[in-house]
Amino acid sequence: MSQQRLRLTIRGRVQGVGFRPFVWRIAQAQGLAGFVLNTGEGVTIEVQGSGQQLAAFRQQLQHTLPPLAHIDSLQQSLLDLQPDSTLFEIRSSTGNTENQSQAQLPADSATCLACLDELFNPDNRRYRYPFINCTDCGPRYTVTHRLPYDRANTSMLAFPLCPACRQEYQDPASRRFHAEPTACPQCGPQLQLTDRFGLPLKGDPVHGAWQILQMGRSIAMKGLGGFHLVCDATQPDAVARLRQLKHRPGKPLAVMALNIESVRAFCEVSPSEAAWLLRPERPIVLLQKKAIADQLMPDIAPGMASIGVMLPYTPLQWLLFYQALGRPNGQEWRRQACEQIWVMTSANLSGEPIVITNQEARERLNKVADVFLLHNRNIVTRCDDSVLAIQGREPLLYRRARGFVPEPLPLSAGGPDVLALGAYLKTTATVLRGEQAFVSQYIGDLDHPLSCEALEQAAQHLLELTAVTPQAIACDLQPDAFSSQLAQQWAQQLDVPLLPVQHHHAHLAAVMAEHGLNGPVLGMALDGYGLGKNGDAWGGELMMLEGASCERMGHISSLPLPGGDKAAREPWRMAVGLWQRLNPALPLPAHLAGRPGLPMLLRQLETGLNCPETTSMGRWFDAIAGLAGICPEQSFESEAAQKLETLATGCAPLAGGWRVSPANLLDLTPLAQQLMQLSDPLAIASLWHATLAHALADWASRAANTTGIRQLVLAGGCCANRKLLQQLLPLLREAGLQPFTAQQLPPNDGGLSLGQAWVARQRLLQQ
Ligand SMILES: [Zn+2]
Ligand SMILES: [Zn+2]
Repeated sequence: MSQQRLRLTIRGRVQGVGFRPFVWRIAQAQGLAGFVLNTGEGVTIEVQGSGQQLAAFRQQLQHTLPPLAHIDSLQQSLLDLQPDSTLFEIRSSTGNTENQSQAQLPADSATCLACLDELFNPDNRRYRYPFINCTDCGPRYTVTHRLPYDRANTSMLAFPLCPACRQEYQDPASRRFHAEPTACPQCGPQLQLTDRFGLPLKGDPVHGAWQILQMGRSIAMKGLGGFHLVCDATQPDAVARLRQLKHRPGKPLAVMALNIESVRAFCEVSPSEAAWLLRPERPIVLLQKKAIADQLMPDIAPGMASIGVMLPYTPLQWLLFYQALGRPNGQEWRRQACEQIWVMTSANLSGEPIVITNQEARERLNKVADVFLLHNRNIVTRCDDSVLAIQGREPLLYRRARGFVPEPLPLSAGGPDVLALGAYLKTTATVLRGEQAFVSQYIGDLDHPLSCEALEQAAQHLLELTAVTPQAIACDLQPDAFSSQLAQQWAQQLDVPLLPVQHHHAHLAAVMAEHGLNGPVLGMALDGYGLGKNGDAWGGELMMLEGASCERMGHISSLPLPGGDKAAREPWRMAVGLWQRLNPALPLPAHLAGRPGLPMLLRQLETGLNCPETTSMGRWFDAIAGLAGICPEQSFESEAAQKLETLATGCAPLAGGWRVSPANLLDLTPLAQQLMQLSDPLAIASLWHATLAHALADWASRAANTTGIRQLVLAGGCCANRKLLQQLLPLLREAGLQPFTAQQLPPNDGGLSLGQAWVARQRLLQQ
């Protein structure tokens, strides 16, 4: 039979994911000759054999990929036959680093099923070994200092392989062939349980930690991208104590349960939610509570309809469940419902970044945790748990971090390399390199020096991993934000332009970048706060965007912001401001009239002193929540809006509840007048959501009719409101518009840096 020789050049997520041994196995199975090689751009394969063998090889290559691998492109060319070619080999990639800059680092991945089978098999040499992993699973991004992704460039450098591990590492037939973080009890990292003073506790660390949990105490447990604080979610005293010590009075806490069956005991789980819970990224998924959830865990997500749940993703987390169940025989227990539910929350004090080193943990968490479950594998890169919900059947990301980062987002076109540093809340950094956008893990709010430092580190790390020297640095318009100041400093050092981008322009541009849109499009920014081009506090804006340009077409009717930030933290103040704006004949609702600070607030509203105006959609939500009396003061950002969303049920919109002026001003005061006359919070929340959805759809479709533009981009923090989107998106489609929302990044400020970078690039391209 006639022989052929092919060269396949493959790009995508093909390094550090077991791709070469996979190719080796399928080539062996087909009896093909040739080789596979990692290159700076991906993987190159040469294979020689009959047409039939090659076709079977191609088929398997594309349809039986290892779980973490992903092919973006595959190019094929025909070569001359090599007469003495009979073997298939994995060639070392040394010396072929001319284009290392295109290589990619994989994200961290949950422990795979094959490793779990070994972890709980008493005959396996890695039985109960908390650092078991393989080419299909384990730490990646969080242990890697720099590329190329080799053990020497990770924190596993400190653990030389024992002969048994080395043999597996070098054997293409092994599940651990070139598994960079592979280890075993003989050669790898070890656990330690200490008291709060750092003194080691005797006995088995996992057993000791479990005893502490049972007693209603909390553990600081070292994970993949940082420490978790862990306690029994079903012991109210334990949860209350953790909340008090962590200074986190009302914010929902995430929980961990053993498996989907266990989660179904207290939450609804749809098929797509189950699929996301089980994915190797293992995000926290927001799930609809069952009635029993609040009885079982009263203080986990008070006043919220959903609860953040995740499944175990490290061997150590699995071992803690195994211990709690009394180390059962066999593997069946992994699939059976289990009553253990644990709070598993990022270990940080309010406002600070998540703790990653053992020493930091002892210094910063010794008042919160009773014991420390530590190990000696260093976390190189801080990375919180990712958070998402399912909207329709698509994921809606609230926080993009572990499991997703540093996976790049594909862009529709290339251009100059750019760095962007976000704004103030939920900060991320983004590097654009060619047709890829690398968005950093969620850093958090920049109101603590340690968070500012974390942003600086994350941006630096991203530049190193991508080998990019930016040609411009983008930031927010807000000049006093730390991110803007850092951007200015770096731009000076590198002698490149500093390009500030208006907040809501950046929000909308992020969605344009994600969907490969270049405009002209309409954009609706439904957000909390961002500095406008005219110096005002924006947040409910209708825009027209094309390339680098963004024109403000209209905005939502403004509200007074008495006391500035203070009003944003205390929705009752926004409610009084709204009431005064409407100048109603009706008296203030009793819950507002009784506030101690009211007389002073009314004077402030009358004189207009320190009482700026805002067009923010988020502040409208606060005002309505304040009016409903459901959240007079917020203990965390967007608490009021979330509580209002929780209460809302479907209802008919208020006819005539809004007006759109010829200048595209959306006036919501008729709706507000009506809401003033209601006293039932549920009725207020429902009518608000339903009418707002219709008002926004009307606003957008009028703009579409005058401009002839039918593509509409939606972004901003309020686009994380699923009840609003559920009503708004169908209305927009019915009106003949084509709406686009954030899907691979959060719609909130977590996606802002991508938009900033994308706009900065468009500006450079225009020059
Ligand atoms: Zn594995
Ligand atoms: Zn070993």
